[in-house]
Amino acid sequence: MPTGNDRINAEGAGEGLRDLHTLTHGELTELLASLGQPKFRAKQVEEWVWSKNARSFDDMTNLPKSLREELAARLTLGGVEEVARQVSVDGCRKYLLRFPDGVSVECVGMPSRGKLAVCVSSQAGCPMGCSFCATGAAGLTRSLTSSEIYEQVMHVRDDFNTRVTSVVFMGQGEPFLNYDATLGALRRLNDPEGAGIGARHLTVSTCGVLPQIMRFANEPEQFTLAISLHSAVQRTRNALMPGVRKYSLVNLYNVMGEYVNKTGRRPTYEYALMGGVNDTDSELQALCDFCEGTLAHVNLIQLNEVEGSKLRPSTDLRAQDFVRALAAVGVEATVRNSRGADIDAACGQLKQRLSK
Ligand code: SAH
Ligand code: SF4
Repeated sequence: MPTGNDRINAEGAGEGLRDLHTLTHGELTELLASLGQPKFRAKQVEEWVWSKNARSFDDMTNLPKSLREELAARLTLGGVEEVARQVSVDGCRKYLLRFPDGVSVECVGMPSRGKLAVCVSSQAGCPMGCSFCATGAAGLTRSLTSSEIYEQVMHVRDDFNTRVTSVVFMGQGEPFLNYDATLGALRRLNDPEGAGIGARHLTVSTCGVLPQIMRFANEPEQFTLAISLHSAVQRTRNALMPGVRKYSLVNLYNVMGEYVNKTGRRPTYEYALMGGVNDTDSELQALCDFCEGTLAHVNLIQLNEVEGSKLRPSTDLRAQDFVRALAAVGVEATVRNSRGADIDAACGQLKQRLSK
């Protein structure tokens, strides 16, 4: 079996070239030294890859032409390809991106008042099977690598030709079932020599994989955490989110208490309102009990309807009842309006194929 380095050093290997994004700083430095290059080259190459998102070695104009050719003979530059896009009336753009192995994922760019938020996928598909989510219905194809997550952000940045101000991991997949790649992508997004996005503007949304929530609490960066709650009644949540049945609400409550103690940061609870399912008086009471006295922000989302599902959104009036009742027990709540709903780019509507 050839090692990674054999592949990097093989001349003109054609197929099976290693993606430069997967090289560590040490490996890149070693490769450049073996090509007789001075030390500062590694930094130059990394700037092209991570900060400028170069699509070809020829773009790397401050490298000698001979070096660009030598690198091109040994390495690829990822090669995510846009296979389709849709543009929403509200300015959101949804992209279907395909990786070299043929696996595709969706990501979304959401511009507003000089800012650009990007929603990325952490997996192609998702194994959790939440009943209200279009991604869940398709199952898992595979997890993404950290550079595949990162490349989605850079693709959107280059398309809008503007700085990305925030990233949410709310596309396809469960980030905490792909923890290391998620963390690697977060760090690269945060790195001033990468995308340079402040940690607080990088949000991971999880359906509640408890061991990884504690791991996340112990990371040194101030990343933001969102939890898909959707019901504070165990029986309802089990039915809606079968993949997290083994992590009970009591345990989620305790782990979130530890998370807040450890980090001092306010988590967001995502709650998609579904008529007659989780918007009843008893569900509202359970939600108030779950949040009262804790540091929490509740994001109420009107359910985005998913093809083939009987679940329906709640009414706006009901959403306002929730906001008022939560406020009465000291819990901050907002009703989030869905963006990109006309192009199925809203939460839970990302599927692997562009449907329209
Ligand atoms: N797997 C992670 C992140 C991706 S889902 C998670 O579950 O948190 C991103 C967000 O969209 C989650 O809060 C999820 O619960 C929500 N969501 C999924 N389907 C939805 C739908 N049909 N309507 C509204 N929100 C939905
Ligand atoms: Fe997966 Fe999140 Fe959808 Fe559940 S809501 S199926 S965890 S992507």
